[in-house]
Amino acid sequence: MKRALIVGGGIIGTMHALLAAEKGFAVTHLERDMKPQSASVRNFGLVWVSGRLAGAELDLAIRARELWGSIGSRAEIGFRANGSLTIAQSDDEFTVLQEAAAMADAELRGFHLLDRNQTIALEPALAGNYRGALQCTTDAAVEPALLLAGLRDYLQTFPEYTWVPEFEVLDFYHDESGNHVTDIAGRKYSGDYLAICAGAAHKGFLEDYLEAAPLRKVRLQMAATAPLGAKLGHSVADADSLRYYPAFKDLSLDRLGPQSEIAAQYKMQLLLVQRNDGSMTIGDTHEYAEPFTHEIHEAPYDHLRTVMNNIFGREVPRIERRWDGVYSQSTSEEIYIRREIAPGAHVVTGGGGRGNTLSPAIAEETVQQWSL
Ligand SMILES: Cc1cc2nc3c(=O)[nH]c(=O)nc-3n(C[C@H](O)[C@H](O)[C@H](O)COP(=O)(O)OP(=O)(O)OC[C@H]3O[C@@H](n4cnc5c(N)ncnc54)[C@H](O)[C@@H]3O)c2cc1C
Repeated sequence: MKRALIVGGGIIGTMHALLAAEKGFAVTHLERDMKPQSASVRNFGLVWVSGRLAGAELDLAIRARELWGSIGSRAEIGFRANGSLTIAQSDDEFTVLQEAAAMADAELRGFHLLDRNQTIALEPALAGNYRGALQCTTDAAVEPALLLAGLRDYLQTFPEYTWVPEFEVLDFYHDESGNHVTDIAGRKYSGDYLAICAGAAHKGFLEDYLEAAPLRKVRLQMAATAPLGAKLGHSVADADSLRYYPAFKDLSLDRLGPQSEIAAQYKMQLLLVQRNDGSMTIGDTHEYAEPFTHEIHEAPYDHLRTVMNNIFGREVPRIERRWDGVYSQSTSEEIYIRREIAPGAHVVTGGGGRGNTLSPAIAEETVQQWSL
């Protein structure tokens, strides 16, 4: 049986482990921490097809969405095809949503334009003062708190899957017997194939391989509210999201006018998804310049609450928890970064703010290159 060695217990590494195990490889899965605590557990859990750039990126997202649907039926990860609503709070924002609903690939993305009454009929909790919404039926969500452990529980049903936490890879080498990684104590794991999925850990032994790669780190601020006390099926975005998602780059975004001062300063949009316990994960800000600040700033949360209060038509529940997170993002036209560093050995990272969305399709592209 051929051996696949996976480094990194985040969503990119775990999806590699899953697709390799299902293909028939004996999989050894290494993770530095006791349990993963990086971007993959700090995110919204959004599978966000609506914002992807037309062409290869959208195709990859649609393939990923198919894979999520089937993986979600096999593993306890809280997958739901809930769709999303991007809310227009002004007539000008609504005009841009009308343009989005008329895009050539609108049907492929599952776009439908809704006025306010139609939106409220779908989501009675959104009873606020707004013009309408763009529904996207291909968007979906998972529960970040369940995701990685749920996938590993499923992986444990494969007798040849081995999970090894608290193993920090410090070095890599290739010889005629395969690909090998070692830790500080000289312990070694080997595989015929190797995928190193270390997220935003670009330094250490990876520096040699990633030095020339078009990568940057991005820091985000996030929060969770107390339970809403009502059910919210769809994920929700505000029209600031149109400025960030490349799907909308050719629309008349100048109609949106300048962003509010705080939203512009923190490069923000409202994204919101209700968790299984009724709380809402909200965000996000974007910080691109390193070194990042270590602080959590209050102003962005005040802004998010103002926008939410307007959309919900009432005071939304208080914020109970705050955190930040860092992801690795490709800065070129490469959708993500994959580098073959030796025969059968790949470094895979840089999926950016779409890394959760694309993860099963990214892993599929790696594992397709491995033969049994
Ligand atoms: C706040 C936030 C919100 C986001 N929201 C979304 C969203 O809703 N939808 C979406 O599609 N994307 C979202 N993203 C992006 C997405 O979360 C990331 O692209 C994705 O999680 C990256 O997965 P990863 O496995 O590459 O990295 P990580 O989750 O960082 O995992 C890498 C793992 O590798 C381990 N590791 C590192 N170095 C070593 C080593 N030397 N040896 C062993 N193990 C090692 C780390 O401990 C870590 O567990 C968000 C990101 C953030 C930060």
